[in-house]
Order: sequence, then structure tokens, then C-alpha cells
Amino acid sequence: MRRRSPNSKPRDGKRRARRADQAASAAHPSRTVHHPQFGEIPLVSVKYLDLAGRERETFDYDPSYQPSLPKGAIRGDINKQHFCRMCHVPRYFYMDIPITCVQCNRPFVFRAVEQKLWYETFKFHFNARATRCLQCRRQRRSEEALVRQLGDAKAAVRAHPDDASAQLTLAEAIARYFQRRKQGNLQEAVAASRKARRLLRNHVAHEVRETFFWEGLALNLAGHFATAQDALREFISGAPVGRRQVLLAKEARALLGGSVSSRGDS
Ligand SMILES: [Zn+2]
Repeated sequence: MRRRSPNSKPRDGKRRARRADQAASAAHPSRTVHHPQFGEIPLVSVKYLDLAGRERETFDYDPSYQPSLPKGAIRGDINKQHFCRMCHVPRYFYMDIPITCVQCNRPFVFRAVEQKLWYETFKFHFNARATRCLQCRRQRRSEEALVRQLGDAKAAVRAHPDDASAQLTLAEAIARYFQRRKQGNLQEAVAASRKARRLLRNHVAHEVRETFFWEGLALNLAGHFATAQDALREFISGAPVGRRQVLLAKEARALLGGSVSSRGDS
């Protein structure tokens, strides 16, 4: 996209066009700026007072200009856009932009409707541009959520070290974070699972059993496959209770079957 201040004179290579411009500006005190996408954008006169209090005139993009829309384009409302007039031209319309994702290198489309949302509803600066595909953006958000969960779980355990569910939540947060980022203290997850089990010793069996799942998963991720298998078998030795345990039991079976390797849940 060509960038030009509305205050600079249109620089058109074709002499004929320049003469036409001059003729037009002689007839009307109006100016235009040529844009490869939006055509001849009319400029409107804007009066302002300078520091000395003198009235001055400048030219700004005409907000009422409505260039004809190419196929698939949606109209922009420049009054709602936030941009630097020296660096950017307002978006009179938006069109789908093909982009390569910086994370997975796959092509994706920064859709016209999405651009309108970014620049007019969220008031993002024109410098902001989608660089990641939807899938990678989602994954990034869920990674950020995992980091928050991990922080919250650690704080909860510090505040209530004898709370079994806090210990179990910590074990879960560490294991899930490790699955995503291949980082974290798995030994701490194993210890938290075991501590939760001690704290839950008088509880119903299925609550106690879940501690074996998190211990087994953490051991498996740490490469202690034999002890991981013992813990995971202990977990599935009883019937799972509730949807969450049903899903965990499925995961445990997947870990026990086949290669007993770590399974990312992407
Ligand atoms: Zn991507």
C-alpha cells in the first residue's frame, strides 16, 4: 500500500492526468490523493488554529467518499478508524488478505469482516495485523491460560498446603503445561499427587483413585514408564465417576496401550 500524507501533492507520473488534476483544482478548490486501491480520494479542507491563534487550513481524507467496492469487499467507516494520517491511508473498504502464519507457515486469510472488527470495533492501530492463523492464535491463548492456571495452582498450594484439591490442581497444571511446552517440574507434580492421596485417605475411593492418574501422567512424562503404568492401572482399576474421570480413564488407557508415550492434547 502506498503511504502518503494527505497534505502532500498527488504525484502522478502521467502528465495528462496531472493536467486534468490541475484543471479540476482550478475549477474547484478541492484536492485528491491517488491510491492504488481506493482510487482518487477527495480531500476536504479542515480549518484549525495554530499556536499563535491564527486560522490555518489543512486537508484531510474525505470521510464521505465511497469508492466502488470490488467483489468481496466490505465498506469501511473511516470515522471509526484509529490511524496516523501521516503514515496511513484510511481503509475505505476491506478485502480478504492472504497471509502466511508466522508460527506454522500455513497460509490463512485475514478476512475482510475480521479486519473491520479489528480496526473499527476494537480500534486497533493500523500497524496491527494478523500474523498467526486462527488455530495458532487459539493455541497461544490456551498456552497463556495454562500459564495462568499454573500460577494460580502454585499460589493456592502455598496458601493451603493441606488442601487436597489444591495439590491435585497443581499436579494437573504442571502435567498439562509440560505436555504443551515440555517444561516444568514433574517431580513436584508427582509429590503433589501423593500428598493429595495422603490428605484424601478417608475419602471415597474414586476421589483417591484420581490422584493415581496425575501421578501416573507425570511419571510417564518424566520417562518413568514402569512406575507410570502401575499408577495408571491403579486409576482404571475402579469405574470412573463423572464425565471428567471418564475422559481421564480414556487418556490413561491410551497411555497404557501402544507406546506409553506422552500424548499432547492438541
Ligand atoms: Zn498457524
